[in-house]
Amino acid sequence: VSRLPATLPRMLRQCARPGCSAPATITLSYDYAGRTVWLDPLLDDDHPARHDLCDRHGSRLSVPNGWLLERRVGRGDRGIGDLVDTHRP
Ligand SMILES: [Zn+2]
Repeated sequence: VSRLPATLPRMLRQCARPGCSAPATITLSYDYAGRTVWLDPLLDDDHPARHDLCDRHGSRLSVPNGWLLERRVGRGDRGIGDLVDTHRP
């Protein structure tokens, strides 16, 4: 029983909100000087200025007045590449 299942994700992290034990799916990072908050798909590196959030808390997040919230979390992996390809003959 000491062996971990091979299917387990390499890094399983939990939501940083107190009392929430949901698995983290979003990484929040921020820049105080630029008053900007970014939401990214869960990032691997454990930067001290980043916090992991679950889907629910990430989608409910709001920022203080004067701050900019930039969501880079894509639904269905749609990116700029898809938009460009759509108009190709
Ligand atoms: Zn949460």
